[in-house]
Amino acid sequence: MKVDLQGRIAVVTGAAGGIGRAIALLLSENGATVAVNDVSDRGVETCREIEKRGGVAKFFPGDVGNAESVNAMAAAVEQDLGPVDILINNAGINTGKDGRHPVHEFGDAAWRRILSIDLDGVFFCSRVFSGGMVKRGRGVIVNIGSVLGLVPIRLQCAYSAAKAGMLNFTRSHALEVGGYGVRVNGVAPGSILTEGTKDLFYKDKQLSESLLSHVPLARPGDTKDIANAVLFLVSDEASYVTGHVLVVDGGWTAGFAREW
Ligand code: NAP
Repeated sequence: MKVDLQGRIAVVTGAAGGIGRAIALLLSENGATVAVNDVSDRGVETCREIEKRGGVAKFFPGDVGNAESVNAMAAAVEQDLGPVDILINNAGINTGKDGRHPVHEFGDAAWRRILSIDLDGVFFCSRVFSGGMVKRGRGVIVNIGSVLGLVPIRLQCAYSAAKAGMLNFTRSHALEVGGYGVRVNGVAPGSILTEGTKDLFYKDKQLSESLLSHVPLARPGDTKDIANAVLFLVSDEASYVTGHVLVVDGGWTAGFAREW
């Protein structure tokens, strides 16, 4: 799919690796100038890759879970690149395997850290960028949630709660800004192959087969599958789509994939 994003400024949070990097690359390939945000300096590598392919990008470090850091990052983006047309709230974290606990054993620090990045972060970034979008009467926001925000999972209460919260935040924000020409949508990925999930699930044959037995398409998604969904949602081709959560999960949440 090819769309025209020439002249648009796009911010992608958490774009040093994984899904965020794929989104940044695809928006750039379609003409956008990309502000690459990440808490990790590896964001510079995403910019280098974009420039190597003939695109324009600049790295803006910042922690989305910290309001002051987000406000400073936003001011720097607007000063260097101009008003922002597209915001992709992608940065997100979960616990590793060792951090999975039932609610009665879940620690304060893990709960706060996940909520602050996965939920507060979406609020902080949406707040700082959507004010200008409302004033200018145009803009698009896409929030990267998870199927675990639609269907909860055991032992990951913070992630399930944060992702459910941010998906309803998405719809709530869409209601507020629709009248000003600003669209807000979400994407809910299923299991997507990244460096992180390769280590967590896909190195172990048994674990990988068990996970994929729930997925009708019987494969993990590619980061490009999520980037393509985002590209559609930010494009003018989706100009009548707002307040929607697009599930991209190989059919995982369509129903029971196995008999019992
Ligand atoms: P990833 O590979 O871990 O990439 C996330 C990026 O965000 C990393 O570069 C990370 O930096 C950065 N980040 C972490 N905390 C941040 C903060 N406070 N401020 C700014 N950047 C921060 O993750 P991913 O798998 O691509 O996931 C991207 C999004 O998709 C997340 O919201 C995730 O919940 C969602 N998702 C992923 C999957 C999947 O299967 N991969 C499935 C469903 C939903 P560090 O590496 O330094 O921490």
